[in-house]
Amino acid sequence: MTQISVPFGRRCWAEVDLGQIVSNYRLYRENMPVKKDVMAVVKADAYGHGDVRVSLALQQAGCRRFAVSNVQEAVRIREAGVTGEILILGYTPVSEAGLLCRFGITQALLDEEYAQALAKAAPGPIACHYALDTGMRRIGLNADAPEAAARAVLDTPPPLQVTGLFTHLCAADTPDNDATRAFTGLQQQKAAKVLELLHRAGQTGLYLHELNSAAGLYEPEELSLFSRLGIILYGLKPDAGNKMPDGIRPALSWKCAVSMVKTILPGDTVGYGRTFRAERPMRVATLPVGYADGFRRALSGRGFVLIRGQKAPILGRVCMDQIMADVSFIEGAAPGDEAVLLGQSGAFTFTADDMALMLDTIGYEIVCGISARVPRVYFEPQEEGAHK
Ligand SMILES: *Cc1c(COP(=O)(O)O)cnc(C)c1O
Repeated sequence: MTQISVPFGRRCWAEVDLGQIVSNYRLYRENMPVKKDVMAVVKADAYGHGDVRVSLALQQAGCRRFAVSNVQEAVRIREAGVTGEILILGYTPVSEAGLLCRFGITQALLDEEYAQALAKAAPGPIACHYALDTGMRRIGLNADAPEAAARAVLDTPPPLQVTGLFTHLCAADTPDNDATRAFTGLQQQKAAKVLELLHRAGQTGLYLHELNSAAGLYEPEELSLFSRLGIILYGLKPDAGNKMPDGIRPALSWKCAVSMVKTILPGDTVGYGRTFRAERPMRVATLPVGYADGFRRALSGRGFVLIRGQKAPILGRVCMDQIMADVSFIEGAAPGDEAVLLGQSGAFTFTADDMALMLDTIGYEIVCGISARVPRVYFEPQEEGAHK
């Protein structure tokens, strides 16, 4: 995504370790008792990490299947050199059928009505994966009526060509307990039933993919041999309660410069609305990052940044483009210092998952929220084998 063509000095930036993403991909594959094929989910600009660079790094590491959320994302990575399968997981306006054909993009079929409309608009063959609704009630053929679902797949109108089936395991992200496992197991059984009916009808060429990151963590040897992996590739947890396999680590750090340091006096207030009032003389740093960069305003008066390996608490409200932080106890803090918003500084590590907990959300939303004006700086994977 945002590639710097002019070497601007650094205000606020994200560092993406492509080697860590490749390593996470390999660790996941190697930790599975049954060898899984991985479809890399690179939607939403690879969860804010940059879809083109992430896809090409994974392709280099052997990944042949990719998933995105819309046709713009699909065309972008195809044009950048992704040669394998690119599946659009959601809605594409049928007026874009020509693009699907021209770029060899695989489209999810949401239901029979959508399939009819897409077939009518298609100027030529389009590979499709039929979505099966096994309980999420989002998209797909209702797998509670397996015969009708199988029939719909068999009756897919040309020039659409169904090459796969998928379902989404919507309970897998919640704490791993008996009820979760039971619901997830039921979803898998429903999908397997449709696949079996298709086999019986002679349609044996389809593959089924269903494991997202969360399901893959605790459902290692079940029915599906294909995982559709997003968040774990980026080293974050599907849910705060998940235990991550050893060695899977976040690939993104988010940083900015310290722009100014000043002393304020007792009684001074800081920022909009004067929500923070100093009770002692304080050293205050100003940092060039704000909610327009994706640094959430809800961190006002609650969050912190890391400077010189120490926590600098945020004072007052997060502005659109700047924040202020207390550096009274950080010796030598000075303009030009690197401030870490996400990542490691000295002995401290603060991840998107940690920030998400403070904001009552999930790490996904934090990394997806780092806005386009924040340049991504890439670290290439090392030689083959260096990550083993
Ligand atoms: C986003 C998405 C995924 C990836 O989920 P993670 O939890 O990031 O692994 C898989 N399948 C579908 C249908 C999705 O929308």
